Amino acid sequence: RARRDLQVSVVAFRQELEDALERRRTLETELFKAIVRDELRMEYQPLVNLADRSVFGAEALLRWNHRQLGPISPAEFIPIAEENGYIVDLGAWAMNRAMKEALTWSNPLKLSINISAIQISRGNLVTTVAEALERTGFPAQRLDLEITESLFIDESLDLKSCMEELKALGCSFSLDDFGTGYSSLGYIPKYPFSKIKLDRSFVRRSIEAKQDVAVIEAVLHLARGFGMSVVVEGIETPDQAAKLLELGCPCGQGYLFGRPMGSAEFSSQLLKAA
Ligand code: C2E
Ligand code: MG
Ligand code: MG
Ligand code: MG
Repeated sequence: RARRDLQVSVVAFRQELEDALERRRTLETELFKAIVRDELRMEYQPLVNLADRSVFGAEALLRWNHRQLGPISPAEFIPIAEENGYIVDLGAWAMNRAMKEALTWSNPLKLSINISAIQISRGNLVTTVAEALERTGFPAQRLDLEITESLFIDESLDLKSCMEELKALGCSFSLDDFGTGYSSLGYIPKYPFSKIKLDRSFVRRSIEAKQDVAVIEAVLHLARGFGMSVVVEGIETPDQAAKLLELGCPCGQGYLFGRPMGSAEFSSQLLKAA
């Protein structure tokens, strides 16, 4: 009987694996068509000052709504695009679209765009950014590039010179998903970051646990020492916001302040708040 159960679960497992592979293959083929089919768009989520909740920036987030499969999470399709290199084109598209849309807003907010390592190793990020700025007329001083902490584990990347060139154009940088990359802290001051984005895994339902408070305080201290600002991701409740403010955290992002929204909605929220 035990043997039979095992056989059944092996079959079920194999089926699951096949389904997952099949979906992956489908998404891979479909993703190549997404741009021309007009299935992609950008959404924007406010970045706020915790003290008065004023919006100082927007993070651009890519959305894919497939004609048959419906909405597909970037957490699912970005890794696929990274693996096959299509993220180079996708990233360029996202950047151009976000700059164009952000220029229609009433406030000259900072625009944060997520950058993948592959855009540096397999593409020419400096050229892509320079061309997007040129084509759209978006001011480089308003552009912030979010780079994930885990990227620093890949030492083969010539990240530093890439960042220096972009900085010379006027761009700033944020260290995204901080605390999830397991890399050493020593690298941080070697790169021109102006912000640390503390990963949302450090913000639980309530920030009462001693360990969470200790981590947040340590990150605030570290950032201050390096002359960097801190944005805490994933703030969902007023209690979290109050606690973070009390701890001295300057900025935040999360559903409490606004979900990711299309450009038109984002812009009308800005007008309402003003
Ligand atoms: P990320 O850069 O860390 O972006 C923040 C993610 O947290 C977004 O998920 C956002 O919707 C979500 N989020 C914001 N506030 C809250 C909250 O209060 N609670 C919870 N539970 N979640 C919150 P999203 O849009 O699904 O994107 C996932 C990841 O996909 C992003 O993580 C980013 O790494 C990647 N991504 C999205 N767009 C792009 C893009 O244009 N280029 C690249 N390279 N990566 C992108
Ligand atoms: Mg990000
Ligand atoms: Mg990210
Ligand atoms: Mg993040």
